[in-house]
Order: sequence, then C-alpha cells, then structure tokens
Amino acid sequence: MAFKKTVDVQAAVAIAANEAIAAKTQGTFGVGGVMLDQHGNVLHSLHNDVVRDGLIHDPTAHGERQLVDWYFAERAKGRVMPEPQDITIVTSLDPCCMCGGAILAAGFNVVAAAPDSKAGINFDASAGFAGLPADLRDAAQASFSYPAVLGASQYARAASGAAARPFFIGKTIAEPTQALCSLVFEATADEVMALFDADLPKAQLKCPATLDEDHAIVSALRAVYPDALRYRCTPQQPDVDLAPFLQRAMRRDVEQGGCGDAVALLDSFGNLLLCMPGRMAQSDVASAFMEATRAYAQLRYRLMAGASEAVQREVREYLGHPRDGTFVFALGPDSSALSFMNLGAYGSTMEGPLPERNPAQFQYVRPRMAQAELERLCSEMPPLYRNVIRIRPQQVADRQLIAAL
Ligand SMILES: [Zn+2]
Repeated sequence: MAFKKTVDVQAAVAIAANEAIAAKTQGTFGVGGVMLDQHGNVLHSLHNDVVRDGLIHDPTAHGERQLVDWYFAERAKGRVMPEPQDITIVTSLDPCCMCGGAILAAGFNVVAAAPDSKAGINFDASAGFAGLPADLRDAAQASFSYPAVLGASQYARAASGAAARPFFIGKTIAEPTQALCSLVFEATADEVMALFDADLPKAQLKCPATLDEDHAIVSALRAVYPDALRYRCTPQQPDVDLAPFLQRAMRRDVEQGGCGDAVALLDSFGNLLLCMPGRMAQSDVASAFMEATRAYAQLRYRLMAGASEAVQREVREYLGHPRDGTFVFALGPDSSALSFMNLGAYGSTMEGPLPERNPAQFQYVRPRMAQAELERLCSEMPPLYRNVIRIRPQQVADRQLIAAL
C-alpha cells in the first residue's frame, strides 16, 4: 500500500469504497478513507472502527478522524511528512462534525464522495457549510471538494466546493462507485445505531461505589483513572469538591501541550468515573474530551469483549451509557475548529436523543462564549446534532465550582 500512487479521483474513491466494504464486514459504519500526499502517493488508508465484536469500541473511531491522528502519530515517531495543507483525505462519505472539525483544526484538504444529509458537514449539499461556525466557513470552502459524478441517476451531481488538488488528473467519480459509497453506509447505519440502544435504561443501573475495592470493574476503572469513585455529588449537579480533580487534569493538559482543558465523566449516581487531560503534544486533535470519551468506551469494551453474557450484563449495570451521566468540561465550547470537533464527538458519543430526564448531560465550568451565542452555534449544526441529539451545553449551576476554576 505504501508505494501505491493515484492521480485519479475515481481511483482514490475506489480505495475508500473498498475500505468502507471492509468496515461493513467488521459490523461497523461502512465508511472508509485514504490519505494522499501532494503527488498522489497513498500514505495510509483505513476504515471506521466504532464497532468491534458487536460492541461499541470507540465512538470517535471514524475513518477521517483516525487518519488525522495517524498523521500526527507518524510525525511524533519522527517520520518526515508533508504539511497538512499539501495532503488530501479522500473519504467515501461526507465528514461528520467531529471529523470535519478535526480536519479543519489540522488543515488538511478533503475529497468527499457520498453525501450525508443527517450528519455531514455539507448536509445541504450547497458547499456553503452553514452548519459550521461562521469563522470556519471560508476555510471549509477552500479545502473541501465534492467532485462531479457523471450520469443520470440519483447519484449523479455537478462538482461543488473547492477544486481538488492540482495533482489529480481525473477529476470525477464514476456513478457506480458513488452509489457503492452511499449504499455501503446506508446498509450499516441502522444496525450500528441499534447497538447504542443495547445499554440498560437508567432504572436498571447499579452504583459502582457499592462494589468491593478489588472488584474487576473498580480495578479496571482505577487503571484508567486512579481517582475513580473518589468523588460523588448529587446526580447531574457537580459541586465545588470536583474542582481539585479538574484542576489536576487541567495542569496535566498544559504539560501535555494543551490550553488547560479537562473533561470529567460522572455517572447517573454522581460518581466520578474519570477526568482526563488532552494529549495535544502528541496530536493536534487529541483534546481532553476525545481522550475522556474514548477512554470510557474502550474501558467498557475491554471488560465486555469475549466475556460471558453474565459479565457483559454486570458491566452494563455498573458502567452505564454516558447519556445517563454528565460530562463536565473545565472550559466551555468556543467557535474554533477543535471545539467544533468536540461538539461533533459528543454527538457521536450520544448518537441518539438525550434522555428526557437528563437535559443537562453536557456541562462546562468556565465559559468561552456567551450562552446565547453557544446555543445559536448548536442550533445551526447539521440535522442529527440539532434535531435528534439536540446538543445543549450549559454552565454548571454551582457558583463555588465556577469560582474555584
Ligand atoms: Zn466522522
């Protein structure tokens, strides 16, 4: 794969489509992508990895987001890589808000095949990117390409968005390849979404603080986050005693190249499960929220993969879906690409509507934009985020916690 080269949009989309089919056989969202340098050399190709073994493995493991992190991981290992603005990510499906935000934060170019009218950054197919914060629209218009699909079926379209990079000689997508990209995604979307509903309703959840200190679930939690279960508040009402945990992670975030963010996850009983800094020195898109949501999903996956049904049931009882708990961000969202990525990743973590009884699932301590402006930003996101999940970050109610940070 490392020596393959393509100067043809169609050939590159075909590689992405093959990856999407591999994703379908894994039982995850049928989406794939390939990263090309400024000469058309294939740097890497991969596919969605959200689901493994019929379990949610990592809600942030979309193809494009993984390609962005792969690029920074290679650089961190010392490999000489072209700058992001010289690189093109070719993806079988229009990037979602998480991937679109990650791509814009890092500065890559994009060629997107199939549209996604629910979660795609170009959900309305106008290439105007009205779903992005206003300051990011110009950058998206200059870097996201939607090549022409020649033909007469529903898959045909005129080219829109940015011109693809100059090394591309062939600039169109064949109709059957475009249809394949759409159909592979559509064939997987419902079954993967249903996995998010395999988790137990809130009434059946049990408090992990009642487990013995040496229980496998407690040990696994503390292996990820040593202070797990050492703080508890009234459910959904984080208070000032959470401050030291956030502050420790915020200091580590700065040491690890970040701006001092941290994200805590509280369960439906108010227990602190984890509180993570980002790893921005490692990757431009390794934010605190990405680290936190991934750490929790992978912890549950490790405990459940290959385990008996009884063990899986116990894990689901004591470690519920985050939608019934509370994410507490040290720093509220702003209008940057990285913050938009976090909002998108939050949407990918929730996938479906927030529980009626837990409207304040997403809380933050220090605001970085006015609440009204933040609500407008969220109300302009693509339909999945604004109409189905209805992302609604709000500041924590506890004045002492706000004062402490
Ligand atoms: Zn995505």
